[in-house]
Amino acid sequence: MNRRVTVIGGGISGLAAANHLRRIAPEIEVRLLEFGPRLGGVIQTTHKDGFLIEGAADNFMTTSPAAIQLCRDVGLGDDLIGTNPEGRGAMVLSRGRLEKIPEGFYVMAPSRLWPLLTTKILSPKGKLRSGCEVFVPRKRGQDDESLKSFVCRRFGTEMFERLVQPLVGGIYTADPNRLSVAATMPRFLDMEQKYGSLIRGMLNQRRSRQQPGEKSGGAQYSQFMTLRGGMSQLIKALEQSLPEGTVRINTPANFIVPSESGWSISSGAEDPRREASDAVIIAAPATQAARVLSTVDQDLSQLLGGIQYASCAVVSLAFRREQIGNDLQSFGFVVPAVEGHFILSCSFSSVKYGGRAPEGTVLMRVFIGGACQSGLLRLPNMQLLELAHWEVAKLLDIEGEPLMRHITRQRHAMPQYHVGHQNRIAKINQRLQWFPTLALAGNSLSSVGVPGCIESGQKAAERIVAAMRESSTVPMQVG
Ligand SMILES: Cc1cc2nc3c(=O)[nH]c(=O)nc-3n(C[C@H](O)[C@H](O)[C@H](O)COP(=O)(O)OP(=O)(O)OC[C@H]3O[C@@H](n4cnc5c(N)ncnc54)[C@H](O)[C@@H]3O)c2cc1C
Repeated sequence: MNRRVTVIGGGISGLAAANHLRRIAPEIEVRLLEFGPRLGGVIQTTHKDGFLIEGAADNFMTTSPAAIQLCRDVGLGDDLIGTNPEGRGAMVLSRGRLEKIPEGFYVMAPSRLWPLLTTKILSPKGKLRSGCEVFVPRKRGQDDESLKSFVCRRFGTEMFERLVQPLVGGIYTADPNRLSVAATMPRFLDMEQKYGSLIRGMLNQRRSRQQPGEKSGGAQYSQFMTLRGGMSQLIKALEQSLPEGTVRINTPANFIVPSESGWSISSGAEDPRREASDAVIIAAPATQAARVLSTVDQDLSQLLGGIQYASCAVVSLAFRREQIGNDLQSFGFVVPAVEGHFILSCSFSSVKYGGRAPEGTVLMRVFIGGACQSGLLRLPNMQLLELAHWEVAKLLDIEGEPLMRHITRQRHAMPQYHVGHQNRIAKINQRLQWFPTLALAGNSLSSVGVPGCIESGQKAAERIVAAMRESSTVPMQVG
């Protein structure tokens, strides 16, 4: 009889795990259980009135090869597209005006000094304080630190409030008072230890070309790619790469229990049934993984259940180009909390990538909510659509009504890597050692980005295959 692995969760992490299992161990039967009516999890591309709308990820970083390689493996190599070479960089709202993020400023540290010295975003006092970063001593000890504490300690409050908070807030939709630097941006901690200063480290890396010669500020857009048909193209291709009958939608996993031959899995909402599986990969969000595992190991379940999530709304708005007064010479803008607005950021989707909007029109995505403005998400859809329109109309000098409006709510979609997250993950991995045929994957562990999720799925598949090959029946031991 074929040995079977059950993957729980049909987002990008679960699909990557299932695809990898088929690739490295074609003899194993794979079953994928998905709670919802479709695959993809938070990733969802919608086509509406000629616009290509993304409900969550609209691209991925190419610094890790996992996403590009997977696209190629499933036959989408020719559909990979890069960002528009014109109009790179991002803007930040600064005292009511949109200003270019200084060239070479990367998330929390500058790799060029002149653009930082001449920017209008920081006051002379703020510039002086951030320049003094080179004299700030290294932190002693290994304690985890919050993003806010780290950046304020090294660069001062103004740089944190005006540049770092909105940039990082845009990526993690997190509370910077609680976000762990070690779990999200360990590279900057290493830089502090190695060079004694982030400015020195960035300049050094730029000189030795470790840091790609990126000119624009903000996120490094030349390092982002997407698919011509949107991110759901990857989801569809992954689904098609699996043998018929592998995927079961509308089938939540309820709980799993260890059994003689491996695992017994209870699934299905209305008419639950139990099935045997030799191994299990759980690629559902941590809150759901905790529930599924509550019958296996209380500690593991509690550790996973302690990971918190933030929600947000993504509002897509389209306008005719002539309705917009702003020259749109960037890929979008971020909004610092100190500016007192109701949106986190706005991305100019059709400026960033081709094929997103009909000729003569502009498609933009506005992000609302996150950990620090979660109360706004209590507003009904109509009010969120109007709020997003009202905000961008003011900031981008837009006249008239949108041609198209669309809202996607992402409830509890973004895991929050709070201070102590890495400790928690280390403990989770310790508990997992007792269960060689159980693996976890997904964005709650070590990376929220699509490439990191893909890697987590692939690593989970490798762990399971190694365990299954090592022993035909692995004894279950609970510690
Ligand atoms: C608004 C937004 C914008 C983003 N932008 C980017 C970006 O530009 N670039 C980037 O790299 N990343 C981005 N991300 C992050 C990235 O998209 C996600 O981290 C990633 O897609 C998560 O994939 P996942 O498979 O781990 O989880 P999910 O997508 O959450 O999938 C988990 C799946 O498990 C299912 N499930 C839950 N419980 C059960 C159960 N009991 N049984 C069976 N199935 C279950 C769920 O229904 C879901 O389908 C963004 C995220 C959001 C929310």
